Amino acid sequence: MVDAGATSHIVSDIKAFKNVDSSFQPETHSVELADGTKCSGMAQQRGTAVIYLLDDTGRRHRAQLRDALYMPSYPHDIFSVARGATITFKRGNSHMVTRDGSRFDIHESGNLYYLPTVVESVDHCKVCHDLQTWHEILGHCNYEDVQKLQCVVRGMEIKGGMVRQNQLCEVCTKGKFTQTRSREPDRKAEKPLELIHTDLAGPMPTQSKEGYRYAQSFTDDYSGTMLVYFLKSKADTVQATEKFLADIAPYGEVKCIRSDNGTEFMSRDFQTLLTQRKIRHETSAPYSPHQNGTAERGWRTLYDMSRCLLIESKLPDKLWNYAMQTSAYVQNRCYCRRTKKTPYELFTGRKPDVSKMQKFGSICFAYKQEKGKFDSRCEQGVFIG
Ligand SMILES: [Zn+2]
Repeated sequence: MVDAGATSHIVSDIKAFKNVDSSFQPETHSVELADGTKCSGMAQQRGTAVIYLLDDTGRRHRAQLRDALYMPSYPHDIFSVARGATITFKRGNSHMVTRDGSRFDIHESGNLYYLPTVVESVDHCKVCHDLQTWHEILGHCNYEDVQKLQCVVRGMEIKGGMVRQNQLCEVCTKGKFTQTRSREPDRKAEKPLELIHTDLAGPMPTQSKEGYRYAQSFTDDYSGTMLVYFLKSKADTVQATEKFLADIAPYGEVKCIRSDNGTEFMSRDFQTLLTQRKIRHETSAPYSPHQNGTAERGWRTLYDMSRCLLIESKLPDKLWNYAMQTSAYVQNRCYCRRTKKTPYELFTGRKPDVSKMQKFGSICFAYKQEKGKFDSRCEQGVFIG
């Protein structure tokens, strides 16, 4: 947490301290709290602590905090506004710029301000954000599941831990994103790729930048893993299915694909593709679309999340396919109540690493090296997946 009024840095993890001041006496040292009361014995040590800050390009910066106080009972780590850095507090656009020109976005939550940090760990880097930031990175996934996710993925830490249950999120409210989970569909398959549900959605109200009007989803019944492909017309269903089969090939062979009776799935080309690949085709009976309910429920969640991402990022609707692709990526890495794991882990057998995940629509930088030249230049962009 960034505090402009604090006179010292406060660190609650003793492992962050590289050295401690042996002359420091906890009994005689007193801390003045925001309400003016003085309190002694709270700070147990004083010394130099090392933290790692993440700048807005995702790069890690080692920062030494001199004369930091070790306060294990303190609810937040406090970053006292340091000399040599300029901090701008401005609603929705707070940031810190250090002397070397690095820029750090400051995240706001209520009236509190947070700097993104990384926790050093033995096997891999854990990224530490507060609950609201994780909620946003994870496509506005409900808070309870965000908290549970921490235990079933790699690289994730929630700052402040298990706090704030009933938060109000403006974007969730605007996007009418329900904080209740959709009903878990009945699964039949006993292992990945045994049964794949596919469904076509569209035409979309807006044509994408690349000219896409349709989206085709493939959902693995066993794990709930969902892949989405984009089509210019319904006739591209065969191509999209071929692409899916190629992408999934390293993980095994698809046994059965279930779809509705749409003409695109009943076409001779589609039938031939499945026969050649020795894949059984199951269709839902006419007038009972609920048999293909897994695919349809998947769409609802995907639509809802994509709408949230576009609202929040203020990006144009023609980028709907990127929002949808991100939503599918995020959902495959979200906590599933039924299995208490992520779809990704059920499908691949490995826990997903979420430490590199960024918020859809955040500012990013691409390094471009021009041909024949040794210098690279940096171009600013918006992260869309
Ligand atoms: Zn939200």
